Amino acid sequence: MKSHAKVVVIGGGVVGCSVLFHLARHGWTDVVLLERDELTSGSTWHAAGGMHTINGDPNVAKLQKYTISLYKEIEELSGQATGVHLTGGVLLAATEARLDWLRGVVAKGRYLGIDLEEISPNEAAELMPLLDPKQFVGAVRNKEDGHLDPSGVTHAYAKAARKLGAEVERFTKVEDIVRRPDGSWRVITNKGEAVAEHVVNAGGLWAREVGRMVGLELPVLAMEHMYLITEDMPEVAAWNQKTGTEIIHAVDFDGELYLRQERGGMLMGTYEKANKPWSEFQTPWNFGHELLEPDIDRIAPSLEVGFRHFPAFQNTGIKQIINGPFTFAPDGNPLVGPVRGLPGFWVACGVMAGFSQGGGVGLALSNWMIEGDPGADIWAMDVARYGDWATMAYTNAKVRENYSRRFSIRFPNEELPAGRPLKTTPVYDALSAKGAQWGVSYGLEVPLWYAPDGVRDEFSWRRSSDFDHVAKEVAAVRGGVGLAEISNFAKYAVTGEGAAAWLDRMLACKLPKRGRMTLAPMLKNDGRLIGDFTLANIDDGEWFIAGSGIAEQYHMRWFEAHLPKNGSVRIEALGQKLTGLAIAGPKARDVLAKVTRADVSNAAFPFMAVARMDIGMAPCLVGRVSYTGDLGYEIWVAPEYQRAAFGALTAAGEEFGIGLFGSRALNALRLEKNYGSWAREYRPIYGPLEAGLDRFVAYGKEADFIGKAAALAERKQGGKLRLRAFIVDAADADVIGDEPIWFDGAVRGWVTSGGYAHHAKRSVAMGYVPREIADEADGFEIEILGKRHGARIQSAPLFDANFERMRA
Ligand SMILES: Cc1cc2nc3c(=O)[nH]c(=O)nc-3n(C[C@H](O)[C@H](O)[C@H](O)COP(=O)(O)OP(=O)(O)OC[C@H]3O[C@@H](n4cnc5c(N)ncnc54)[C@H](O)[C@@H]3O)c2cc1C
Repeated sequence: MKSHAKVVVIGGGVVGCSVLFHLARHGWTDVVLLERDELTSGSTWHAAGGMHTINGDPNVAKLQKYTISLYKEIEELSGQATGVHLTGGVLLAATEARLDWLRGVVAKGRYLGIDLEEISPNEAAELMPLLDPKQFVGAVRNKEDGHLDPSGVTHAYAKAARKLGAEVERFTKVEDIVRRPDGSWRVITNKGEAVAEHVVNAGGLWAREVGRMVGLELPVLAMEHMYLITEDMPEVAAWNQKTGTEIIHAVDFDGELYLRQERGGMLMGTYEKANKPWSEFQTPWNFGHELLEPDIDRIAPSLEVGFRHFPAFQNTGIKQIINGPFTFAPDGNPLVGPVRGLPGFWVACGVMAGFSQGGGVGLALSNWMIEGDPGADIWAMDVARYGDWATMAYTNAKVRENYSRRFSIRFPNEELPAGRPLKTTPVYDALSAKGAQWGVSYGLEVPLWYAPDGVRDEFSWRRSSDFDHVAKEVAAVRGGVGLAEISNFAKYAVTGEGAAAWLDRMLACKLPKRGRMTLAPMLKNDGRLIGDFTLANIDDGEWFIAGSGIAEQYHMRWFEAHLPKNGSVRIEALGQKLTGLAIAGPKARDVLAKVTRADVSNAAFPFMAVARMDIGMAPCLVGRVSYTGDLGYEIWVAPEYQRAAFGALTAAGEEFGIGLFGSRALNALRLEKNYGSWAREYRPIYGPLEAGLDRFVAYGKEADFIGKAAALAERKQGGKLRLRAFIVDAADADVIGDEPIWFDGAVRGWVTSGGYAHHAKRSVAMGYVPREIADEADGFEIEILGKRHGARIQSAPLFDANFERMRA
């Protein structure tokens, strides 16, 4: 075994082999993969081998498309057959709600370049002869579905990697991983040690155990999964003979089933409701090529639906039932990337669809390691989307929920209950008593809206039971004053004698003076966004940053990787050590003035001022800024004082008719000001000019901030895209995000977010279009639920375009 390598990849399943191949293809050949047994000794060998391009997240869908396109290349390079059968497939809907969802998938496919087409049940039956068209209301045809040989693909990656110079060591079990004083890693195996600059955990079924070697508890859990293979079926033989082709794939969402031809019979798999985790706490090291005991009773309810939807199954015998374990993260997407606090330690695990996603995971990881950036928007797969709150018990609850809902519809207003409530703030009970309907953000319960007794969310793609109530919350803000809980923001304290100089390099904005705040875009080396914050200079040397709550770990990874080694700067993610309240609306100042002795007049405390002040008896940090775009204040308070501050504000607000508002109302309010949000409008694939954040970039400042040269180049060249806000002629359904934007009859852009702006009484969408058409007055349409609606660019915000309210 090599004693030194630039990279050691642990795990020879499909994912580890793909990572190895991609590193080698990218030019890093001093790389070695260690596998404790033969290749494919985890979940890979018994997979059903299905592959699909569609995914709920369009960026993951792009990587799936890439994965499928890769098989020809690795087959040619390695000389190893991958057994790819690109049969195509049908996605079936048995309900109108499912068909609405499928139409959304077809729409996304238009800008992703995925060839999808809505067809009728009868047309679906012409393509897939085993289905009973009477059981379905519609279908979608996907030409890029298929299946392959799991072992062949894994060996093809490994052989191709070896041809490029990488090494594979089988029967080499990694037993421990120890950090060396110089930051490199000692990888200790049953066959000796290797020192490596980078270690990749692609341990699949043992990813948790490999993580534990470096003190990590990864949110991953294996689930048992079953599929059956039938005896040969005459219907299959007849079709093969008649058409000369295989029976195509089918996904029956309402039956929660997937099907494909397997030799002369069929393979049918299901994600059953009565699911079962496997090895909840510890994966046995002696597990390898065994299968688990099948349990047909567990899958019987799904099979019953399957036999009804595909009647030919009623007349055939079951030849074999395969039951094997494979791993999931709580949301079902992979965990990929560098791990915060462990430089040089990477994960590529929790990959539940290795044959659709393995290539994309390998590509992103190798780009990231070699170029410092994944080269694509992989937020949905980034390991940093989870924090310490994703404990083993939380993961268990969430993975089981996710498994049981693998093919279920998730409506845009649907909140999933498992693993909740987990993190709550001190006002949780008080807000619940007022009817708060809770969502969750980064593990924290967040009030979405306030429901009167007996009213709850009716899950729908269309405007729903919350509509009128959210409208009232919006009216309370615009007409008087509203109060919201905003503890879900990420909050950071930056201190130390080097803090100002460091922030000047990290952030692209001009640093604010003492007692002032500014909007602060943060760029990567390639000049694209990696964050957007509010930066407050509380006192020179003491800085406060507020940003996206879901990206706390993501941003801390970036911040910490750039801290000076001499300890002159300290940054702390405050999490729920600091909670938040916000008041907004024309009467917000009157409320604040009643609860503090500080002078909060416009002259003394203008827009973008920040100061410590007491609210009632509670010491707080108050910033005059509001995401509602109205006169407003964000109030940061230690949790032990949050109830006191909340009580003082609600009592003072009574005479002004203060009303609670939740994040849905906040969304409606920010939309009519054209304010973007992280992970929707602002993502690491857009430049500041494209995203309209260039006005906050201090291109001329002295500090050589990260991404400066690239941002200057973007400004000179003009960028490719523009973020625009649209008014949409929608009737009863608004955009959710990821809908296509049409221009002159062709899809030219995509929606990032939107909804109904209740005060302006308009349906609004934000999204990116090419720069060349970004100022066109006419010709736009936005597709919602399969129908195109006229849309016009909103040149000025619908609310307070002249800042008369915000700055008053
Ligand atoms: C019944 C079933 C059906 C499936 N059907 C499909 C399908 O149709 N399509 C699809 O895309 N996916 C399917 N999957 C899922 C697919 O199998 C997984 O996505 C894939 O196998 C994940 O691969 P991996 O490389 O991450 O993990 P694994 O295959 O588990 O590989 C991990 C490897 O790491 C090695 N290892 C672990 N720890 C160490 C260590 N300390 N030292 C050295 N080596 C170590 C293991 O021996 C193992 O070989 C199915 C899974 C099952 C169980």
